[in-house]
Amino acid sequence: MSRAEVVCIGTELLLGDVLDTNSQFLAQQLALLGLDCFYTVTVGDNPERIKACMREALSRSDVLITSGGLGPTADDLTTECLAGLCGAPLEMDQDLLAFITGLFAARGFAMPESNKKQALRPRGADILPNPVGSAPGVVWRLSPENLAHAAIVAGNKVKTVLTFPGVPSELKAMWQGTAYDYLAKNYSASTIWSQELKHFGIGESALAEMFAHLLELSNPTVAPYAGRWECRLRVAAKAETQEAARALAQPVIDEIKAKSGVRCYGVDKDTLESTVGALLIEKGLTLATAESCTGGLVSERLTDIPGSSKYVMLNAVTYSDHSKQELLGVSAQLLQEFGAVSAQCAEAMAHGMRKLSECDLALSVTGIAGPEGGNADKPVGTVYIGLSAAGKDASGASAPLYFGRTLKLGARLPRAEVRWRTANEALNMVRLYLIDPLEFAREIAAQSQASPQMSQALPKYL
Ligand code: AMP
Ligand code: MG
Repeated sequence: MSRAEVVCIGTELLLGDVLDTNSQFLAQQLALLGLDCFYTVTVGDNPERIKACMREALSRSDVLITSGGLGPTADDLTTECLAGLCGAPLEMDQDLLAFITGLFAARGFAMPESNKKQALRPRGADILPNPVGSAPGVVWRLSPENLAHAAIVAGNKVKTVLTFPGVPSELKAMWQGTAYDYLAKNYSASTIWSQELKHFGIGESALAEMFAHLLELSNPTVAPYAGRWECRLRVAAKAETQEAARALAQPVIDEIKAKSGVRCYGVDKDTLESTVGALLIEKGLTLATAESCTGGLVSERLTDIPGSSKYVMLNAVTYSDHSKQELLGVSAQLLQEFGAVSAQCAEAMAHGMRKLSECDLALSVTGIAGPEGGNADKPVGTVYIGLSAAGKDASGASAPLYFGRTLKLGARLPRAEVRWRTANEALNMVRLYLIDPLEFAREIAAQSQASPQMSQALPKYL
């Protein structure tokens, strides 16, 4: 199994001015190729440190991939550091020089003297073409003399360096145009297929405990990752082809899905909102929302999904008491008696919105996002979520179903986090209802939040 290592060069990366997206891209690509990548290193524009990183990477790995430092300015040092480390003179590539001069001429400019530097390459290195920019990289199979000069013990291994500019679009174009195929041909014997199983409503440690026996597997491997509010289990398998790797992973994926049940809400790029959207389409149902403390966050996330106009009909941000009364028909008496942040208000908002929108489902949210506005009874982070759904009573007459939840998110949570978590819980309520209303009703009833209307209407409705 060959190893590759990525060295990203640029002081702007170390300062945090530019996010290193090239490492992410390259790491994913190396996994696709089935090359082990045990290190990615970031180093500033300093020749001694760049050379030290290159040397170390080449000592550990078969392939060194560099990003950055190929520009025309004095701080772009990659090519000369590499040539210096490997004891190769820099030579002016006349074809390349003519090409770069031509690029400037085509735009009506004379080429600045400093750009000549981009046509230099170490003796023995080939050009790695850049289809979209002026600076190409090199692909360089190091000779025994090069390796000896760099004091690298290679045994009988072939060590290759590929250099890329830092600009992500150029790096990707060069990768896809030339480098991927080159590495596939010369270094890759296997490929990795992976899938992330996304979980909501279960913590990382509980998930790891539940699947402890799988975490010890070696092919496929299973690894837990805790996100900001969700947990992911990544199942990755290695084989000669993508199909074979997938077949290795599938039984483990099936086992996890079966055991996780509704807690596994999707895979890879799925989100709670995309899952809700897919379920609404599948069931042919429509949704409306009435938000207070989330200020439209639930609406934004729902409508972020392409095609959401098929099932989202009306989303309102009813922030004031007045708007809750005027738009949703929440009574002045209710607001007076229980307040706008109350289970009663959430219920009235949900029913009011369903009536107004004529949707199958209406979701409501009211709470205290903070940092002010909390009290001993209802501290910051207290949120009420309501879901109103069309239903029938025992005689067949229409009687709305209602599901309510109270969240106590914690008084110290920042405002943005209260809003974000509330939106997650609200979307998840819709999701669970859509998957299995009866099971969802049982769960809500167990939380003693079910309204009397719901328990009466439920058996007939289902
Ligand atoms: P360079 O090839 O060093 O001249 O880099 C050109 C530009 O590419 C820099 O100014 C950054 O904005 C960007 N860049 C460099 N390295 C990276 C990286 N690892 N990830 C994303 N962008 C980068
Ligand atoms: Mg740079």
